[in-house]
Amino acid sequence: MGTENLILLLIEAGFYFVFMVGLLHLRHQIGIGVFVAALGVMHFLETYLAAVFYIELPFGVISPGSSVLFSGKLMMILLLYVKEDAAVVRAPIYGLLAGNFLTVGLGFFLRHHQTVGAVPGRVADLAFIDEMGWLMLLGTTLLYLDSLGIILLYERLGRVFKKSTATRFFVSGVIVLTFDQVGFYAALHFLNNAPMEVFWGGWIAKMMAACAYAVMMTVYLHYSRISAIPVSPRPISDIFADLTFRERYEDLLDRSGRDALTGVYDRSRLEFEAPRLLSAMLAAGKPMALMIIDADHFKDVNDRFGHLAGDEVLKTVATCLQRAMRGNDKVFRFGGEEFVILSEDITPDVGTDRAEALRRMVEDEVRRPDGISVTVSIGVANSYSDGTTLNALLSAADARLYAAKNAGRNRVISTAAPAASSGFEA
Ligand code: GH3
Ligand code: MG
Ligand code: MG
Repeated sequence: MGTENLILLLIEAGFYFVFMVGLLHLRHQIGIGVFVAALGVMHFLETYLAAVFYIELPFGVISPGSSVLFSGKLMMILLLYVKEDAAVVRAPIYGLLAGNFLTVGLGFFLRHHQTVGAVPGRVADLAFIDEMGWLMLLGTTLLYLDSLGIILLYERLGRVFKKSTATRFFVSGVIVLTFDQVGFYAALHFLNNAPMEVFWGGWIAKMMAACAYAVMMTVYLHYSRISAIPVSPRPISDIFADLTFRERYEDLLDRSGRDALTGVYDRSRLEFEAPRLLSAMLAAGKPMALMIIDADHFKDVNDRFGHLAGDEVLKTVATCLQRAMRGNDKVFRFGGEEFVILSEDITPDVGTDRAEALRRMVEDEVRRPDGISVTVSIGVANSYSDGTTLNALLSAADARLYAAKNAGRNRVISTAAPAASSGFEA
């Protein structure tokens, strides 16, 4: 009997999954509203079943309402989030919350009707509606927390399980459904006096559901990836299909705004990032340093060895700078043979030391084709003393770079005084 029930349950989960994912998959043809409305309709059956419909399995007594339908709905919400974004998934989360509050609100008024027995042998069981109303409210509030929880967890777990989407789905499901089972059982126990075995049976069933749905979702994502992009020259890991919207955005952002020659960020990216970083640092009360780095006599390199050799030297300079970056430092190619580095949370003194270390590193490591050192001059500005906008920092650093060039090149200038600071005597 138990085994038969288990097989039926698995068939129900499969049927539910294929049906709902079918609607989700066709969202561009039939509209996402179909999927969302279907999800909402399922809520009634789910709550009804969870209140009264229990079956016996080899490991305990469970309700298909919570194991198949509720777990499935949570997974559908997560899948919708993965396929779309936070704005889209907000609709069913808030819609279910609002709809269930409305149900309970209407139930309150319905209770005051004098009903007639129009259908022989059937009377309206308003106590049942009342009870289900409370269960719905609790279930809905839990669902709201569960939905936010499963999305946040899925996002967080992306860092731990980069490669395995199935593990990400499964672990998010296990944690959130366990949390849910504790909350839901508490409500069932309080309202219906549900025995403890209902908790364990339900928990095991939910874990099985998490496992089954994680596998089905992974299979679906794999399938939809293949069918959506039939011939793709890009490697699988590069395809967006199972990244969340935020991950897709960050991936795209990371690949855009790169300088083609050197691979470091480009100037447009500097203009995009600097104001954000500056206001974040300002809000946190931390200083930020900006340096402009300009290769010395670079025209000579081009004139003697040709533009292509010059390009190679520039790449080496960029690589050298990139390698020297620490923490949240960022390198940008500002123009020609000029680079800008933004360093977060760094005092003027440390900024000057870091610039001096960079200068020395380039001198030690970068060579022209004839073996002579390539050097750089650096102007450093700091948000403590030079202003808190990108332009203020750029113009202060630029003036110091100009002073460094005038003072003989291959040196760092980081204060407003014309000939000051830590220069290396070339
Ligand atoms: P200094 O900065 O020390 O005053 O002298 P400089 O010769 O480096 O200065 P200037 O700004 O006059 O010249 C910069 C040169 O950098 C001019 C240009 O030929 C070269 N340059 C700019 N961008 C590139 C590039 O992408 N590739 C190569 N190979 N050269 C570039
Ligand atoms: Mg220049
Ligand atoms: Mg130069």
